[in-house]
Amino acid sequence: MDSSEDNAAARETLAQAIDRRLPQTQCELCGHRGCLAYARAIAAGREEINRCPPGGAVTTDALARLLGRATPQPAAPPPPLQVARIREADCIGCALCIKACPVDCIVGAAKLMHSVIADECSGCELCLPACPTDCIEMTPRAAPQKQEQDAREAPSIWREFTQPQVEKWRLRAAQKRAREFSARRERATRGASQTGRRELRREILAAVRRKQAGAACRRA
Ligand code: SF4
Ligand code: SF4
Ligand code: SF4
Repeated sequence: MDSSEDNAAARETLAQAIDRRLPQTQCELCGHRGCLAYARAIAAGREEINRCPPGGAVTTDALARLLGRATPQPAAPPPPLQVARIREADCIGCALCIKACPVDCIVGAAKLMHSVIADECSGCELCLPACPTDCIEMTPRAAPQKQEQDAREAPSIWREFTQPQVEKWRLRAAQKRAREFSARRERATRGASQTGRRELRREILAAVRRKQAGAACRRA
């Protein structure tokens, strides 16, 4: 590995450590497309450490300790704890909310009613603008009971989220990114092979025309 690869590897290791201190709601309130994107921006020195409202003072403090910095005030107050709910009577089954949900907690099939798996919803609100019939609403969610957090072998650093929730959201977001990446690659490959076929067809037609022109010259 040369030094630029070393630097990139060290930066990615740091980004992963930062990501472990983010609550993984994937809400994009930090201005980045998910927690890992924000973690990478901090690791690259392009972003402040107090931009994650759901993580609040706990996250800001954990990041300050990790990076050996003073702890700034969180830039914005934490959003309310909430969970999405679909008004089934108004749902037209367009599936746009499934596409928008970063943690894959909406189920349903095209043209059929959709619903949210409430226990798995991070409350990020990203499905709201995606819904053409405005039939998704946010409802309050209670924070996990203190006893529930204390009873776990690895309690989370946040009072609002349990560690299994955080891990599930991280995993689901990574799986979704991987699926979107494969879909993009497949589209690009399909596009390239269509372009290749078009070019081949053009070359064959040009060769046929050259041959026809040669034959016409010989006849003249
Ligand atoms: S929880 Fe939301 S605001 Fe915090 S890092 Fe993740 S996406 Fe950004
Ligand atoms: S259902 Fe909506 S609010 Fe809940 S995680 Fe998915 S996109 Fe976010
Ligand atoms: S986006 Fe709205 S209308 Fe479309 S499937 Fe989801 S809840 Fe139903």
